[in-house]
Amino acid sequence: MVKYIFVTGGVMSGIGKGVTVASIGKIMQSRGMKVTAVKIDPYINVDAGTMNPYIHGEVFVTEDGGETDMDLGTYERFLDVNMSREHNITTGQIYLSVIGKERRGDFLGKCAQIIPHITDEIKDRIRSISLKDDVDCAIVEIGGTVGDIESLPFLEAARQMGLEEGKLNVAYIHVTLVPVIDVVGEQKTKPTQHSVQELRRIGIIPDIIVARSKKPLRDEAKKKIALFCNVEERAVFTSPDIRSIYELPLILDGQGLGDYLSERLRLKSPNPRWDEWKNMLEGYISPKHKVKIAVCGKYAELADSYVSINEALRHAGAANRTLVEIGWIETEQFEENITTLSCLDNYDGILIPGGFGARGTEGKIMAISYARERNIPFLGICFGFQMAIVEFARHVGFEGANSTEVDPETIHPVVDLMPEQKSIDQKGATMRLGSYPIILTPGTLAHRLYGTDIIYERHRHRYEANPEYVGRLETAGLVFSGKSVDGSRVEVIELKDRRFHLATQFHGEFKSRPNRPAPIYRGFVEAAIERAMGRTGSNI
Ligand code: GLN
Repeated sequence: MVKYIFVTGGVMSGIGKGVTVASIGKIMQSRGMKVTAVKIDPYINVDAGTMNPYIHGEVFVTEDGGETDMDLGTYERFLDVNMSREHNITTGQIYLSVIGKERRGDFLGKCAQIIPHITDEIKDRIRSISLKDDVDCAIVEIGGTVGDIESLPFLEAARQMGLEEGKLNVAYIHVTLVPVIDVVGEQKTKPTQHSVQELRRIGIIPDIIVARSKKPLRDEAKKKIALFCNVEERAVFTSPDIRSIYELPLILDGQGLGDYLSERLRLKSPNPRWDEWKNMLEGYISPKHKVKIAVCGKYAELADSYVSINEALRHAGAANRTLVEIGWIETEQFEENITTLSCLDNYDGILIPGGFGARGTEGKIMAISYARERNIPFLGICFGFQMAIVEFARHVGFEGANSTEVDPETIHPVVDLMPEQKSIDQKGATMRLGSYPIILTPGTLAHRLYGTDIIYERHRHRYEANPEYVGRLETAGLVFSGKSVDGSRVEVIELKDRRFHLATQFHGEFKSRPNRPAPIYRGFVEAAIERAMGRTGSNI
């Protein structure tokens, strides 16, 4: 029997529910279980691809090309398993499918309703993922906050599963916030009490409460939550402020979460194995060096819109016992005032991430020139790769070069829409998405970093390096070090005479893991460390 653990959220969003879910998964894994995780997003979008990363956080791309919620990235990083598009369920998908069935006549003579048709569809999906992945335990995170109208059918499905699968096979965990009033310093449990009341009104009685709070919960706060929320006192856990998110599984397990869950679900609970995870943590919590990386984009204010990049940089840092400090820099300021570019001197590396549209692009190109001219390590990702091609082309005399995404009239369209994209008029899930093989050229930096001829990396783009310019740019000194298998598509570019000037059409960050940094990020951070050594000594 699969054990299902439903995780709901209370009080407000943004309290680290995804990291908590991933940590619970890790705790089950540490006890030898095969685990998967599912994220439910109650919005009507079919997938995250059409949403604004500035508001909803990054769009995480899975191996199979799903454009999914950023929590799937957190699950992949903690659990070290690949998710697929099915692991992110949305209201949009559920209704699309139920309405499709209704039109086909599957419910002939019946009235199609939220209960049972919508809830059945939700339960079917959760069960079929667990069966397909052949897991012992599936953790299902219900997005949003209890009390939201749109999450009701999902909570109802979770409630029904408790009944159908049996009490010993389903557990409910509620993640809430315990705020502290600064002046008094008292941990306030009332918001938690209210959100649990709401949950119980819907028919779900939580087995475990995980309270997000700055400091560990005091005894009286725990007692109060236990009493008012009808859970055992030993089933109240705290997720406090920590040095690295990767510490959370150990912190929760240290409080007894793994043992309590095992008891509740009648699992044999062998001694958890944390040795490898603890070893890995060293690099995160006791770094010896420090580097500063500038991430220059237009969603720079919200770190969540680049969470995988953020993590990939940290993974690369940790592998070198180095703390990576990230400065989020808005490139429009460079366009308004060129002297602001000098702020980049304070950084050891410059990264231009993915992006869409024209705003801020000239500023990105200026930052790339700055990196190239001053030999500051540079990494370009996707749109950053495309802008690096534009920058190089302009530098070697292709005046006015651009991507047709930015300037459709450019005289040198060095980046252009992929031919197969020209006839597409729908925006949802129509980019070149997911994992594709890439052939690396021996003798190049890219090949050295990966140490192999063929790699598989994930993509999300409509535009590409225009093949018509490849020859001319190559003659001018740009190295095309990675291409698609048939050679038609450019995947990696680099410059020979720089410390590290490399850009990729793919997103290496999606496959980076805390104990296995993505090779390009590792190379980039190591080059940055080298610069930091010369610049500040880099010691903490
Ligand atoms: N806008 C660019 C494209 O569609 C880059 C996309 C990205 O950075 N993910 O090709």
